[in-house]
Amino acid sequence: MAVGADTDLMDQAWWSPGLIHPDGRAAFALWFTGGIFVNQAGERFVNESAPYDRLGREIIERMEGGSVSLPFWMIYDDAEGGVPPIKASNVPMVETEKYVEAGLWHTADTLEELAAKIGVPGEALAATVARFNKQAAEGVDEDFGRGDEAYDRAFSNGESPLAPIAQGPFHAAAFGISDLGTKGGLRTDTVGRVLTAAGTPIPGLYAAGNTMAAPSGTTYPGGGNPIGTSVLFSHLAALDMASR
Ligand SMILES: Cc1cc2nc3c(=O)[nH]c(=O)nc-3n(C[C@H](O)[C@H](O)[C@H](O)COP(=O)(O)OP(=O)(O)OC[C@H]3O[C@@H](n4cnc5c(N)ncnc54)[C@H](O)[C@@H]3O)c2cc1C
Repeated sequence: MAVGADTDLMDQAWWSPGLIHPDGRAAFALWFTGGIFVNQAGERFVNESAPYDRLGREIIERMEGGSVSLPFWMIYDDAEGGVPPIKASNVPMVETEKYVEAGLWHTADTLEELAAKIGVPGEALAATVARFNKQAAEGVDEDFGRGDEAYDRAFSNGESPLAPIAQGPFHAAAFGISDLGTKGGLRTDTVGRVLTAAGTPIPGLYAAGNTMAAPSGTTYPGGGNPIGTSVLFSHLAALDMASR
């Protein structure tokens, strides 16, 4: 930037929901085999099985609109035990007691008691779960379309990802927003040459990967895109250097 490089996408990241760990950080978590997310009103607000970047963007949109504040909660039943049904937690989970001591995981025999522990209205939470369970039984999420797209079903062997929340005790785990990396960086051309605001390359200066403004802009075409573009633009930059 000191030599005149332009930047772009400085407010963007590869987003994902994040399980909050006892050290206070929300870390990239995906592949849920159960559970729903609820906001401070005890209501669902999103398709929990959507691709993680889209899910992250929807959460941020609702935060900006004021209907979701942090933490929001994953509500799940005891079908898989007390640990949240997350199959890919990129920061490994530690002992359950540490989350409980930090006030991040709660358990109760009834949904009303659970709601009191996490500070959401009990009636609303019970109604949310009852509605979700009805939809799970019918196999159609009329509210958020969970399961409508192939991605939503990728982690349930192509079956419906709607798992009822029926078997007590009931649990809640605190969630925040997380990311796989930031997208903001130096603006480049198609071979990784860093550009000025006027669009002219700065001689000898290249950027690829997390230091470049992501070529995919505000979208996430699919898993592998961050590393793919890092590798590709490093390669193109090296070829350009060699040609000079
Ligand atoms: C949990 C997680 C899961 C992910 N999963 C995927 C996935 O499945 N697929 C995918 O495509 N992407 C994934 N990503 C994103 C991907 O890992 C990154 O986009 C990619 O690694 C960026 O590559 P990079 O070389 O630009 O930066 P980095 O990999 O961050 O490399 C930068 C290097 O520079 C070093 N460094 C920093 N400062 C200095 C300095 N001053 N001097 C010398 N060295 C320095 C760092 O130590 C580091 O080794 C994931 C990211 C996270 C966090």
